[in-house]
Amino acid sequence: MTPGNRPHLDETADRLARRPWPATPLRPGVRVSFEFFPPATEKAEAKLANCAEQLAPLSPAFVSVTYGAGGTTRDRTQNAVERLRTETDLNVAGHLTCVGSTKSEVASVVDDYFVSGVRHVVALRGDPPEGETDGTVEGGYRSAIELVAGLRKHGDEAGLDDLQISVGAYPEVHPRAASAQADLDNLKAKLDAGADRAISQFFFDTDVFLRFLDAARTAGISAPIVPGIMPVTNFANIARFAERCATAIPEWMHSLFADLDDAPEVRQLVAATVAAEQCRRLAEHGVNHFHFYTMNQPELTAAVCRILGLRPVAGAADEAVSA
Ligand code: FAD
Repeated sequence: MTPGNRPHLDETADRLARRPWPATPLRPGVRVSFEFFPPATEKAEAKLANCAEQLAPLSPAFVSVTYGAGGTTRDRTQNAVERLRTETDLNVAGHLTCVGSTKSEVASVVDDYFVSGVRHVVALRGDPPEGETDGTVEGGYRSAIELVAGLRKHGDEAGLDDLQISVGAYPEVHPRAASAQADLDNLKAKLDAGADRAISQFFFDTDVFLRFLDAARTAGISAPIVPGIMPVTNFANIARFAERCATAIPEWMHSLFADLDDAPEVRQLVAATVAAEQCRRLAEHGVNHFHFYTMNQPELTAAVCRILGLRPVAGAADEAVSA
């Protein structure tokens, strides 16, 4: 076979030759952030502490702790945030949902964050309780747009000129949105109301995110839109979660993870490869900040960060939380 008969192979060889890994960062200035969920038991607390300890040396731009819709994890989230703040030198962001809460309840959560030294809030509407379509309450914020405006005002009144606000974005369109355009308009309105950046729902079809980024830029959104990367810790769980969020799982992923339920080591290797490849493609298109949904499990995220070219910074681990 002559080279001319196999253009796809030549193209692959070209691409591999241009690939900068593993000795140098995939792109100069790669930044990462990590999302944790609040632990419910002492054992889970130790697991989160270990996760933070493992990932802290990678010097994330920030780490964030999720918050149950309707305030269901208020104390646990606050405790996890407090602990990460006091026991590590990580820049900690607290998530906050407004569904099911009055404005004054929201203000009191935010004040607790401020007292803990938190200066970054991930502001979300949250999902309504099962069986309801709205979930907002009398005296509460009716959308994330209103929440962002309220937070920005609250921060200004507290004299915090360094308050960062992040919001959610949906490359595959939020399942409750009236249309893709309405969803994009909503994102723009959240940013115009005072948010600094958007963090995306996780996705597996990288082209979908790249098209969404193009559409957002065309719509006049200039704020950073950070892709949410979900390394596949457990395929069955993630498939269920993806269905609820309207995140598509491409056929090739079903095939890749098929029959690996009893082969956790192989599954981990496959999962790291998939997530690293996704980041590599995004980086090729100029993306340089990746937000990892860690599921409080550090290994996969650490492996992908390593492939991205990140290396532990000496001393950063010393400050990490102790279990
Ligand atoms: P909005 O910006 O208000 O809405 C997004 C889109 O969905 C808009 O198009 C809007 O019109 C439409 N929409 C949403 N809900 C409704 C509704 N009830 N009626 C009509 N239209 C609606 N959830 C948590 O509970 N805790 C968390 O910590 C958390 N963290 C998240 C982090 C990220 C990065 C992301 C992307 C999501 C997170 N979520 C979390 C999920 C989020 O709360 C849900 O997706 C929620 O349904 C929408 O929140 P939002 O702030 O994006 O809402």
